[in-house]
Amino acid sequence: MDSLQAFAEAKLAALEAKSLKRTLVETRRLDGLWIERDGRRLLSFSCNDYLNLSHHPALKAAAVAAVEAHGTGAGASRLVTGDHPVVERLEARLAAFKNTKAACVFGSGYLANTGVIPTFVGPGDLVLVDELAHACIWAGAKLSGAEAAAFRHNDLAHLADLLATRRAGAGKVLVATDGVFSMDGDIAPLDQLSDLCAAHDAWLLSDDAHGVGVVGGGRGSAALFPTARIPFQIGTLSKALGGYGGYLCASKAVVDLVKTRARTFVYSTGMPPAVAASALAALDLIEADPALCAAPIAKARLFTRLAGLPEAQSAVVPVILGEADATLAASRRLAEAGFSVVAIRPPTVPVGTARLRIAFSAGHPDDEIARLAAEVVRLREAG
Ligand SMILES: *Cc1c(COP(=O)(O)O)cnc(C)c1O
Repeated sequence: MDSLQAFAEAKLAALEAKSLKRTLVETRRLDGLWIERDGRRLLSFSCNDYLNLSHHPALKAAAVAAVEAHGTGAGASRLVTGDHPVVERLEARLAAFKNTKAACVFGSGYLANTGVIPTFVGPGDLVLVDELAHACIWAGAKLSGAEAAAFRHNDLAHLADLLATRRAGAGKVLVATDGVFSMDGDIAPLDQLSDLCAAHDAWLLSDDAHGVGVVGGGRGSAALFPTARIPFQIGTLSKALGGYGGYLCASKAVVDLVKTRARTFVYSTGMPPAVAASALAALDLIEADPALCAAPIAKARLFTRLAGLPEAQSAVVPVILGEADATLAASRRLAEAGFSVVAIRPPTVPVGTARLRIAFSAGHPDDEIARLAAEVVRLREAG
């Protein structure tokens, strides 16, 4: 066997032995709620489609009309020939929605963080990242060549300590966090983070992938903290907005620099017009319907009340079981009961904190939530 095959097979076997091998399971999403897998219909609590917009008629119609009018692909990087007016319209709309001067869209949220962070910091600089922040924030920090260090989750005293001891030795300092934490569902104290950053001349980046459409009346976690100054507001179009793509909302100078220098923007093909058109339709719905945006948290809170868990702060509720194999078994049990609930294992979450990650959406029926809560209570009692 050649060395490449030997490496890949040994690595897979080692991961398999630790219940850490991942496999794709072909899944058909039937609508924004139900999926079909292995010939069975399951109610999904594993999608980030918090408002069930991925199958909304208005989004589909907008995408179809844009395909008919403009075709399927952008054709090139936006700096070459791929800058479509629909994408420009989406950026203006996102900036207004987030109350910033400008915005820039990316191919995905992952590409937004890995493009933005290295545009602003590099060798000699310091990036302080909440230890539970999303993998792509860490990827961006590492790619930048700046020193990257973790502060304990939502621990302002620890961050203050790090800033006090390390600010002077660094050039520029970026503090980066999720707004709503993707695997824990809790919320960063953006007002106090912003105060700390102001006191130490550090720049705050918040990634609100799980906040938009769900918290702050649909405008995201920054709207919960009106006094917070967040110069980098990152997010995704792929979750509550039901489509695909990422964005940065920021000042005009920051966005102009991103469009000149961020490598995941400059050297990557522009967003397909239909993707931008469906995101615009999603923003129409989110801005018009506060009751829709309030629904996912209400559903999550119904669940946490019935399951005897701490009250949900967002649409994401973790049920921490600890070991990877027990969590996989729990996920399989829930599938037998008709629910898709994903098991989240290291390295996505720290070792020993494998969990069921339950994502609630506006359309989840209350009786099914009650049935899921009863199953989860039974699992926790058994474990
Ligand atoms: C999902 C997620 C991303 C990645 O966004 P994509 O558009 O799926 O690439 C980035 N940041 C956070 C916090 C996320 O939860």
